[in-house]
Amino acid sequence: MIDPYLHIIKNFPETVQNQPLAPFTTMGIGGPADLYFKLTDTAQLPYLAEAAQEHKIPTVILAGGSNMVFADEGFRGLVIHVASRHIAMDNEDIIVADAGTLLSQVIQFALKNSLTGIEKMTALPGTIGGAVRGNAGAFGIETKDIFSHALLYSPTRGLREEQKPYFNFDYRHSTIKTSDDIILKVWLKLKRATPEIAKKALQESLDIVKNRISKQPKGKCSGSFFKNPIPPDYSNPQKPEAKAAYLLEQSGCKDLQVGDAKVSPLHANWIMNLGHATQKDVLTLADQMKALVKQKFDITLEKEVQFISTTGPLKP
Ligand SMILES: Cc1cc2nc3c(=O)[nH]c(=O)nc-3n(C[C@H](O)[C@H](O)[C@H](O)COP(=O)(O)OP(=O)(O)OC[C@H]3O[C@@H](n4cnc5c(N)ncnc54)[C@H](O)[C@@H]3O)c2cc1C
Repeated sequence: MIDPYLHIIKNFPETVQNQPLAPFTTMGIGGPADLYFKLTDTAQLPYLAEAAQEHKIPTVILAGGSNMVFADEGFRGLVIHVASRHIAMDNEDIIVADAGTLLSQVIQFALKNSLTGIEKMTALPGTIGGAVRGNAGAFGIETKDIFSHALLYSPTRGLREEQKPYFNFDYRHSTIKTSDDIILKVWLKLKRATPEIAKKALQESLDIVKNRISKQPKGKCSGSFFKNPIPPDYSNPQKPEAKAAYLLEQSGCKDLQVGDAKVSPLHANWIMNLGHATQKDVLTLADQMKALVKQKFDITLEKEVQFISTTGPLKP
């Protein structure tokens, strides 16, 4: 039998073999992918994904890599790096962006076109596709608040547009997490503003970035590691127990370290890679943190960060 990888390499010559994955993630962890394809044109995706499925090659989607930790042994299959970044106006208040467009680019483009509503998400790393999948949010705004619809591809359902209800958005959740859908393009509905208001929004967003960067831990990490056990209620003051960081701190997690994976002394819900942390170090540390919170509060924390084993995604 012909090696299934050869079909991909032959038909998609830009495919790279044995590509280390660590440099593509903010956590900086992950060995080589057998096959790696940087997708800069969304039109190629259906052909590539179909070929991988036909030859039974496990496939994983990587985007901004700000919420992913790969195995130290890498991935035995194809990693598709969604890096298509075309962005345009679709209507007077609607932007259409390729899934690989960085959130920071979307925000800049919106403000340049006097559209507001997304600027509070400034400083949130990653792509718009990744943000839709996890309904990423910051400062009371979630991706769902500005989302209109998206172009999806799945090996089982093909290429199609889906409207907002399909996504079942919830706190750090969308249908994409439990389906085989790949997001290709996203339409965002924003608010038209005067140039003065847009300028003010831009200034506010820059202030947010400065403020946030000055407070958050610095180094290799994936931001908040566990989901908050109670989704935030932006209209009411939150009980401290609603926050994973509070529970972790109260459970004594700030002192924990396994190998080069360490809980940040500044934020108990951030795991830092001090240099050479392995996926195993991070998983072991996360298990210890979970166990301490369970013991003290009888609450089971769920990971927000997506771990990928050598064969595919691990459960949260
Ligand atoms: C310093 C720091 C601060 C952060 N702060 C916040 C915060 O305030 N709020 C917040 O919500 N998050 C935060 N995060 C987490 C992260 O920024 C978000 O989860 C982000 O939306 C992930 O996007 P990404 O493009 O990096 O996705 P990746 O990390 O590349 O992928 C994450 C998951 O989404 C899947 N995926 C990505 N793109 C697609 C696609 N096109 N189609 C289908 N599946 C896809 C991947 O397979 C993977 O399972 C932070 C992270 C860091 C490092």
